[in-house]
Amino acid sequence: TKFVYDFTEGNKDLKDLLGGKGANLAEMTNLGLPVPPGFTITTEACKVYLESGAEPPALRDEVSAHLDALERKMGKKLGQADNPLLVSVRSGAKFSMPGMMDTVLNIGLSDASVAGLAAQAGDERFAWDSYRRLVQMFGKTVLGVDGDLFEEALEEAKRAKGVATDVDLDADDLEKLVERFKGIVAKEAGREFPQDPREQMDLAIRAVFDSWNGERARLYRRQERIPHDLGTAVNVCSMVFGNLGPDSGTGVAFTRDPASGQQGVYGDYLANAQGEDVVAGIRNTVPLSELERIDKTSYDQLMEIMETLENHYRDLCDIEFTIERGKLWMLQTRVGKRTAAAAFRIATQLADQGLIDDAEALRRVNGAQLAQLMFPRFDENMIGDGGAERIGKGIAASPGAAVGRAVFDSATAVKRAQEGEKVILVRRETNPDDLDGMIAAEGILTSRGGKTSHAAVVARGMGKTCVCGAEELEVDTKRRRLTAPGGVVISEGDVISIDGSTGKVYRGEVPVVPSPVVEYFEGRIRADEDADELVRAVDRIMTHADRIRRLAVRANADNAEDAARARRFGAQGIGLCRTEHMFLGERRELVERLILAETDDEREAALDALLPFQKGDFVELFEAMDGLPVTVRLLDPPLHEFLPDLTELSVRVALADARGERDENDLRLLQAVRRLHEQNPMLGLRGVRLGLVVPGLFTMQVRAIAEAAADRRAAGGDPRVEIMIPLVGTVQELECVREEAEKVVAEIERARGVELELAIGTMIELPRAAVTAGQIAECADFFSFGTNDLTQTTWGFSRDDVEASFFTTYLEKGIFGVSPFETIDKEGVGALVRTAAEAGRATRPDIKLGVCGEHGGDPESVHFFHEVGLDYVSCSPFRIPVARLEAGRAAA
Ligand code: PEP
Ligand code: MG
Repeated sequence: TKFVYDFTEGNKDLKDLLGGKGANLAEMTNLGLPVPPGFTITTEACKVYLESGAEPPALRDEVSAHLDALERKMGKKLGQADNPLLVSVRSGAKFSMPGMMDTVLNIGLSDASVAGLAAQAGDERFAWDSYRRLVQMFGKTVLGVDGDLFEEALEEAKRAKGVATDVDLDADDLEKLVERFKGIVAKEAGREFPQDPREQMDLAIRAVFDSWNGERARLYRRQERIPHDLGTAVNVCSMVFGNLGPDSGTGVAFTRDPASGQQGVYGDYLANAQGEDVVAGIRNTVPLSELERIDKTSYDQLMEIMETLENHYRDLCDIEFTIERGKLWMLQTRVGKRTAAAAFRIATQLADQGLIDDAEALRRVNGAQLAQLMFPRFDENMIGDGGAERIGKGIAASPGAAVGRAVFDSATAVKRAQEGEKVILVRRETNPDDLDGMIAAEGILTSRGGKTSHAAVVARGMGKTCVCGAEELEVDTKRRRLTAPGGVVISEGDVISIDGSTGKVYRGEVPVVPSPVVEYFEGRIRADEDADELVRAVDRIMTHADRIRRLAVRANADNAEDAARARRFGAQGIGLCRTEHMFLGERRELVERLILAETDDEREAALDALLPFQKGDFVELFEAMDGLPVTVRLLDPPLHEFLPDLTELSVRVALADARGERDENDLRLLQAVRRLHEQNPMLGLRGVRLGLVVPGLFTMQVRAIAEAAADRRAAGGDPRVEIMIPLVGTVQELECVREEAEKVVAEIERARGVELELAIGTMIELPRAAVTAGQIAECADFFSFGTNDLTQTTWGFSRDDVEASFFTTYLEKGIFGVSPFETIDKEGVGALVRTAAEAGRATRPDIKLGVCGEHGGDPESVHFFHEVGLDYVSCSPFRIPVARLEAGRAAA
C-alpha cells in the first residue's frame, strides 16, 4: 500500500483515505489554486499505527521520498541552517473533529535555523516569535505539557516589560522567552525540545495519530456518532506566514453566511497574524470586507477563488487563507458547517440557481436541522419595561433561545446539569477542554472570539444556542461572575437568557414563543411570496419530500387535540392511540372500582360506567381524523398503575389505624395493591394478558370503539378504525381476543345496521412474536412494531431504568454509540423487525406494516424502516415533520 500522497495526487473524493483536509487541499491544488505544496499521510497508516502501536515500516522511506520532492520544489531543505524549509503538521480526519490535535506550525526551526529564518524574512523578531510558537505548540500538543505554563511565562514577560500585547515584545525578549519555554519543556516533559527537524516532524506525525484516541476526540465521536476506527490522516504542508508584517495576515471566509445562508462576503481577517490566532479567537479580527481596503489585489483574487470553489463544490465552502507579503495562499477549504436555517435556505437557493436538483436539495438538509428550526424563540414583548433586562450583545453564533443559570466552568456545568438544572456555560473563550460542559449546557456565552471561534463552531455543530464575542461583558471565571456595563453583576447560579439568533443577552428569564416554521406547519403562516425566505425554503423541500417518500407518517396521539395538531403537521392517520391515557384523571376512580370488584355484577357495573367515557373519547378522535386510519390499542399497562403507591397507602392506613379511624375503602385498596403488586410488572400481567384475565375489559373497549364508529357513520363521517392488541407472544392469544372482539363488532353492526369494516391487528413487541410472525399474520390484518418493548425484551434492558443506571458506562465504553431506545439497533432488534415483516408478508401479502415505538420519529431509524419496506412510521405529533422529511430523504 501507498501511505503518502502528494497534494497533486489526491482529490476531494478520497476523504476516507486522505481525510477531509487532505482531500480538499488536493482538490484545490488540482484546480490550480494557490496551495502551498505538501503531502498527506493516509488514514491507513494511522490505522496500522493504532492497531500495532508502531508506524508501518514502509512509512519512513515514503515520507523521506515525499519530503525530498518537496524540498526540491521549494529549493530549500527542512530545517537547513542558512535557508530553512518549515512545514506545518496538521491532523485531518474524514470528519472534522475539534477534539483532536489540530496543528503544529513552524516545524524545522531550531537553535541552528532560527538565524536562517531571520535572514530569509529579513526580520529577526519574526524568526524568534516563530520559534517561540513552535516550542509552545510542540510542547503542548506533541509532548503534552500544560499549555497554561507557556501562557503564564508569556504574560510574565509582558508584565516585566510593562507592555500589553505580545507584538510589543522585541527579538531579545522573544529569544529569552524561547529559552524559558525550552526550560519548561525539559522540566515538564522530561526531555529536551528536539533540535533535529526530522525528529520534530516524526514526533508531530505520531502525536497526530495518538490524538485520534485522545479523551476529547473519543467524546466528540460518541456525541457525533462517528465510528472509532476511521483513523486520521496527517497533512505536512510548507509554511507560509501571515505574520510577516502589515502586508501579511490570515483569515477565514465563507462563500455564504453560515448563520443565515445569505450570499455575500463573510469572514474575518486578522492582519499580521498566524492562522491559529483567528480560530482561537484570541485577538479581535476585522470583517473580511475590510480586506478590500487593506489589500485589494488579494481581496479580488480571493473573491474569484470563492466563486470558483462554490461552483465547483456546488455548496457553501469555508476557507482558511493566509497572505504572505501580498501573496494569497489557500490553506484549507471544506463544505462548511451551517445553521439549520442556512441549510434550508442554501439548499433552495442552489436549486433555484440550477446548481442542484430538488432531490439533492432534500439530501442537503436533515431532520435534526428541521427539529432545531421548530424550537421556540424569545418573546420580544417580555423584554425591557419590567421584563427581562438586556445586559449585552455579542455575535449570534448558533441560533435558538436558551435560558439557564450561569456557570463559569465546564465541571460545574456538568454537575449542575446532572442535578437536573438548566445551565448556561459562560466563558471568556472556549477550548476543547470545555466540550463536556458545552454538551451539558443549554447554551454557551463567551466574551471573546468571532463566528469562527471554537465556541461558535462547536456549538453550531451540536445545534446548541451560542452567543460569542460579547465583549462588553467582563467574564471573571476565577470569581465566577460576569459584569455587564453599568455594573450589573451576574453571579454563578443567576438566571440569564441568551438569544443565539440575535446575539442578545438578558438578565433573568425571557419567555419563549413558537418558531415561524411551527407556525407554518400549524397552518397559521402561508408559504406565499410574502413569507419569510426560511418558511418558503422549508415548504419547498417538504413538498418534494412528500412527493417522493414511500413511507406514510402517522401520529401517536390519544386525544382529539393532539390528533388535530398532528393532522395539521401532515399526519396521515394515528398509528397508536394508547387507551390507558384515557383512564387517568377523574376516571381513575372508575378503574379502581373495576379492580376492586369482587363479584361479576360489581365488575360489569364498573365496566358499564367506563363505557360512555371511552366511547365519547373515540367519537372525538375519529372525528378529528375523519377519513384517515386510527389505530386504537386496547389497554396495555399493568392494572396496579391505576392504583395508589403501595408505600404511601400502607402509611396512610397505618396512621389511620393508629388514630383508630379505620377506612374500609383504603383497606380494600391496600389489599388490591398487594395482590396486584409484581416484581417485574413490565413482564407481568399487562397487554393481551390483561384482556384474557379480566373478563369483559377488552370487550367493553371494543364495544366503545365500534359504537363510536357507528355514531360517526350515522353523522356522515368516515371513520377508519383499526383495533390493536398489545404484547402478543403467540397467535393463540390473538385468536382468543379476536374471536370475542368480532362477536361484539358483529352484534353492533346488526343493531345499528352498518358495516364497520374494522381491522384487527397486533403489535409485534416481543421476540417470540417476531419469530412466529408468519403464524400470527394468519390472525392479524396488520402489524405495528412496538420497538420500545421489542428493544426492552430483546436486550433484556428495563426501558424505565437503564438510561439512569448503566447506560452512561456503556456509552463511555463505546459498547454502543447511542441508546438503542433512541435509534433502532439494526443488527439485533432491527433484524427481528425485518424477519417479522418478511414472514408476515409471506403469510398475508396485503398485511399492513408499521412502527409506533419512539424510533418512528428518529431520523436514522426512519431510514432503516424505509429500507425494510414498512408502510408507515408513527411518532409523536411534534416529530411528524421530521419523519416526513427523513422518509423523503430515504427515498431521494
Ligand atoms: C412500544 O412498546 O414500542 C409501544 C409503542 O408501546 P408502549 O410504548 O406503550 O409500550
Ligand atoms: Mg409496548
